[in-house]
Parts: sequence; C-alpha cells; structure tokens
Amino acid sequence: MTPTLSERLHAVQERIHAAERAAGRPPGSVGLIAVSKTQPAAAIRAAVQAGQRDFGENYLQEALAKQTELADCPAIRWHFIGPIQSNKTRPIATHFDWVHSVDRLKVAERLSEQRPSQKPALNICLQVNISHEDSKSGINLAELPELARAVAALPRLRLRGLMAIPAPTADPASQRQAFRTLRLALENLDLPGLDTLSMGMSDDLEAAILEGATLVRVGTAVFGPRVR
Ligand SMILES: *Cc1c(COP(=O)(O)O)cnc(C)c1O
Repeated sequence: MTPTLSERLHAVQERIHAAERAAGRPPGSVGLIAVSKTQPAAAIRAAVQAGQRDFGENYLQEALAKQTELADCPAIRWHFIGPIQSNKTRPIATHFDWVHSVDRLKVAERLSEQRPSQKPALNICLQVNISHEDSKSGINLAELPELARAVAALPRLRLRGLMAIPAPTADPASQRQAFRTLRLALENLDLPGLDTLSMGMSDDLEAAILEGATLVRVGTAVFGPRVR
C-alpha cells in the first residue's frame, strides 16, 4: 500500500531525528522545508494538517497560484528556492519569508528595495556553486565573501547563511565532502547573524545533517514523485 502524506512526512522527520542523534546534535536543530514544486495546493494543505509549516517553491507563477488557494493558512512560511529572474523580484520580495537562491548583488538589491515596509526583513541565503559544474546557478566560492558583505549591508534583507545543491552522487563520503565545503565557507565569513546552512535533499539529508545542515529541503520523500 502506498504511504499517506502524513506517513511520508513522519518518516522524513524520523530520518532527520536519527541523523541529529548520529551527529550528536540536539533534537530539533534541523528544520524541514517541504519542497512542494509541481504538487497541488491540496497536498500542501494535507501537509499543514499533519503539522508542517515550511514549504519551498521553485517556480514563481506556480507558487503564487498556490499561495492564493492557501490564503486561509497564514501560518505557512514560504521559501523561494528556484532561479530568480531580476524582473521577477517584486513578487518574491512581497510573497515569501525566505529566499535561498540569491547569487547576484543586483537581485539582492532589488529584493531589499522591494520588500514591503510593513513586513520584517526578508531572510536570505546565498546560493553557492560548490561542485563547479554545469549548474549555472550559484556564486563561486572565490566571489562569495564580497557578495556576502554587500548583501549583509542591505537594509531590508537579513542574511542568514548559505545554500547549495551539490552534484548528485550516491557515495556518502562525496556527499559529505560537498556539504563540508559549504559549512567551511559559512564559518569563514566574518559576519554577524549567520545561523543557516540550507543543504540536503531527499537522497542526501543524512550527510548534510552530519555536516551541520540547519535546514533540509525535501521534496519527493515528503510528497512522492513530482507531478510533472
Ligand atoms: C526540487 C528541489 C529540492 C528537493 O529535491 P528532492 O530530491 O525531491 O528532495 C530541494 N532543493 C531544491 C533547490 C530543489 O529544486
């Protein structure tokens, strides 16, 4: 029998708790972002009913449509985790609580300017390209310190930490190596208030937690296979 969404969610929470224990980290030190791209609003609603609060979306139009359907769930915290076009920053600055995929100063400046004044500062992670590959997203490690200093100075943003999507590999040692690189990059940034490592997905969240992840972004293990 296929598991229900609530069963999947609890199984992922169990994996997170087991990894926290294995890492010698306090229970509850790792937060779960349920990545709901391609999933219908009804699936998000079911996850909310099972106690989930943080949701990650990659595509702006799709996310905005689901936010409208879920306007009666104000407790949801929305995380934007997809590529950002600089002409689409206003709705992102308006309708999200976190943005994990900032990799250019121009985008950060626009998000800061466009963040509505009645909302708290927008939480930001800088996306880092740690595997130096085909992926066009993410700032290089060499350029990270300068971008981080500039973003930290923007008034309506709150720089929280770093995000990465390493090249997929089934080898746990290679998974950990990539996540360790991101942790060391965060530790080397000499800035106040950095408390977030957004790393780890369905297939590698254990390795990420062993290397210090504070937020894991999990899609298929929570919702099942993507709808398209
Ligand atoms: C899709 C996606 C995830 C979740 O991936 P799964 O393998 O389904 O857990 C996490 N982060 C980002 C940026 C994504 O695009």
